Amino acid sequence: MAGLEDLIKGTFPTKLLYLDNSYLTACDCEVLKTVRDGKNLYLISDATIFHPKAGGQPSDVGTVAFQGEKLEVKRAMGVWSEDGFHVIHFGKGNVQVGKAHFEIDWSSRYLYMKRHTAAHLLDHCLMEATGKKSVTLGSWLGDKPYVDYAGQAPSLQDLKSAERLENEYIEQSLPVTFTVVPAEQAGLLGAPNEERLPKSAKELRLVRIGDFEWIPCGGTHLNNAIEIGKFSIDTVIPIDGGYRVYFTV
Ligand SMILES: [Zn+2]
Repeated sequence: MAGLEDLIKGTFPTKLLYLDNSYLTACDCEVLKTVRDGKNLYLISDATIFHPKAGGQPSDVGTVAFQGEKLEVKRAMGVWSEDGFHVIHFGKGNVQVGKAHFEIDWSSRYLYMKRHTAAHLLDHCLMEATGKKSVTLGSWLGDKPYVDYAGQAPSLQDLKSAERLENEYIEQSLPVTFTVVPAEQAGLLGAPNEERLPKSAKELRLVRIGDFEWIPCGGTHLNNAIEIGKFSIDTVIPIDGGYRVYFTV
């Protein structure tokens, strides 16, 4: 198998349609390059709605199809080059170079969107409950979702307050909004994830719930916090340098 960096050679960065509209479940895009590996195929297109595994968000799955041919996309992978961010689709099947119909599995993606927005809101609610800045170390939004934070775990009382606040903000139907800024401005935000931002990015997309903090993020979010439904903190465990909060939406 060729390295991912070799696969993207000679191609432009992928237009990430999910950044503008995370509710897009299908699109017609141009397949630019395919590389076969046994029964599997690597596929690069000019644009995509497939969010790769990145920033704690699992890869989308789905299909790319045209004129009776079909690729079952098992995962999408993101690669940074000097020019920007590239997405490589990987799976079983075959599709020719040219126009194709891309479709993602919406039920799993929508769940990741709920969990992602809930995780950002948790950053804020912990901050409000404890009076201390939240510093995230990582997260996982697949099965058994969690967020890792640096420092001492909050008291049980503060965790309960954070959970109550989160459900109150969900009830308030706070909108989720986006903006894009030059990467050097991100340091001024004091965002929970400022230590972990990609160094090669020239621009950063910022996400905000209501009028809370702007958080740099390339993931897919809900349009409104009300769609999270109900939020609960399941358990908190110690990890190296901090604590992990498991949650359910
Ligand atoms: Zn995020």
